[in-house]
Amino acid sequence: MLAPLAPPSLEHLTPHDLVTYFRCPHEMELARAHRFRVAGGPPPPVRTPADVVPLRHSPLFAPPIGRMTVNEGRMGVLAAERLVYEDPGEDDLPVLFPPEQVQLDARFANGHSTFVDPAWGFAGRPDFVIRRSDGRPVPVEYKETHLFVGYHEAHGRLFDAVQAIAECRLVEVAFGVRPPLGIVLYGDAAGGGSREGWVEVPYGEAEERWLSAALAQVRADSTRAPVPAERNCASCGPNADGLCRFAAARPGGGDPHLGRLVRWAP
Ligand code: SF4
Repeated sequence: MLAPLAPPSLEHLTPHDLVTYFRCPHEMELARAHRFRVAGGPPPPVRTPADVVPLRHSPLFAPPIGRMTVNEGRMGVLAAERLVYEDPGEDDLPVLFPPEQVQLDARFANGHSTFVDPAWGFAGRPDFVIRRSDGRPVPVEYKETHLFVGYHEAHGRLFDAVQAIAECRLVEVAFGVRPPLGIVLYGDAAGGGSREGWVEVPYGEAEERWLSAALAQVRADSTRAPVPAERNCASCGPNADGLCRFAAARPGGGDPHLGRLVRWAP
């Protein structure tokens, strides 16, 4: 009698992988290999073939952002809201709530702070989770950047929306309650609050469908091609380490071909 076939295991992905893939699939490959090396494990093979044809744009289609709202100024919290989660791995997060409104959920303490979605092979940690007065959780992703600077760059709002949608899914799995939206909080402290703001990214069926399709697309992509564009490459981490031979620019404006010849280590 034949043993039943086990379903193929899903490639593990994180919100950060998704954001990086959205910018440049090859960057996602290099960044993940680096993370494995830092963690002391054998890095997964980089899928990008040596003779890959670079792309002009990311192959990932953009998330639905038509219902997103942008708010200027400092984000306040309501008296009925509670802070129920804060990423213990982040040292520089701002204080959002007074102590009497902090009620951290004990399920995510003591090494269990990563939200895992086994059904979708997805895991990660938002910076905060707020429980609203109606009981629904809302993930908050904190960025130190100016609300209106960098829209088309590495920390552009579209990339941040990808992260917010991904974190909504993880929070839904972790808390068993669907978030109505995710928040990206921009906390540039300069200018006495004039540069602060927050973006609310709704999490409905359209966003969930987009996320599911995006994860499937990333997993199905066997080439993870580079997208060499100055706006991507200038702030690319693997590029700063000299790991990409397709770079269109070097951090600080150096000659990309010099770095390519001297530092590339396939
Ligand atoms: S340097 Fe540019 S092409 Fe290379 S991985 Fe980074 S973003 Fe992609």
